[in-house]
Parts: sequence; structure tokens; C-alpha cells
Amino acid sequence: MSNIVAIVGRPNVGKSTLYNRLTESRKAIVDDFSGVTRDRHYGVSEWIGRQFTVIDTGGYVANSVDVFEAAIREQVIIAIEEATVILFMVDVTTGITDLDDEIANLLRKGKKPVFVVVNKLDNTALLADSMVFYSLGLGELYNISSMTGSGTGELLDEVVKHF
Ligand code: GDP
Ligand code: MG
Repeated sequence: MSNIVAIVGRPNVGKSTLYNRLTESRKAIVDDFSGVTRDRHYGVSEWIGRQFTVIDTGGYVANSVDVFEAAIREQVIIAIEEATVILFMVDVTTGITDLDDEIANLLRKGKKPVFVVVNKLDNTALLADSMVFYSLGLGELYNISSMTGSGTGELLDEVVKHF
């Protein structure tokens, strides 16, 4: 499938929760990939009649901080290579971490469209805390709650424009 949406970000920001929401009840494309791609899940999704593949990255197995960061870096580099659109997910409850900054640096060097997806905005009281993510230097912010689904429609409306 030609339209690929990769979800990247550090652990615990909510990537898999969004992936599950987008691919729910749809057939997952798994077990067709080997090597480094074992840490990736591929699923099919659709929005306003446009089909696309969603990639969930993560599930890192690492025994040191260095290996761990290298694994995340690798996932981001693969995403830049193969994705049509990259969703860079961050967590409004933690703000920007060093790993977020590192991922942002990689994504800024890539030539793929990046959507900064600020997750865990379960209520509007957290909107003010989202603003800090503009300093990642990756443009517009898409505030969502993967848990409730809030904001995901607005995000997908923009994503499918890149297909
Ligand atoms: P991943 O490591 O990036 O794949 O993150 P997960 O999807 O596994 O989620 C990590 C934790 O954050 C889990 O406990 C989720 O239930 C929680 N989580 C994910 N999305 C949301 C959200 O929108 N709001 C809140 N409050 N928690 C969330
Ligand atoms: Mg996950």
C-alpha cells in the first residue's frame, strides 16, 4: 500500500493506544517483516474513504540507555525513509524530554511531513500545557487524546491531504 503513516516517539507517550484506535477491527498486516522491523506493527486504517497503512514503532528490548536510544533513533530513521507522513507523538503530561528533543532533531533533518501529535489531552484544562511543544520547531500541534479519541478526526483530516 502506498500511503504509510508511521507513529514515532519515546515509550509511554501513547503510540500503541493510537495505533489500536486507528486499526481497530481491521486486518493487521503482520509477520511479513523481518530483521529490525520486528519492533514494528503494521495495520490497515481508513479515513474518509482513504485507506492507509499505520506503523506502530516500539517494543524495544534494550539493556542499556545507549542501546535503547539507538533503537529509537533507528525506528525514526526507518520512518523517515518509508513513511508518507510521520506522526511524532509527545505527552502533554510530561512536557519535552531530552529524547523528544533528539527525535525532533532527526525529524527536522528528514524531508517527510511531520505532524506533532500532543497526546493525553483528555480535558481542555491541559491545552495551555501543550504550547511548549511549539519549541520543538516542527510547526503546528495536533492535540489529541488517544484514550478518548478526541482530536483524532482533525488530525486525520490533515494527514490524508498528503496522500
Ligand atoms: P507507547 O509506549 O507510546 O506505545 O504508549 P502506550 O500506548 O502503551 O500508552 C502508555 C500509557 O499511556 C498507557 O498506560 C496508556 O493507557 C496511557 N495513555 C495512552 N493514551 C492516553 C491518553 O490519551 N490519555 C491518558 N490519560 N493516558 C493515555
Ligand atoms: Mg507501544
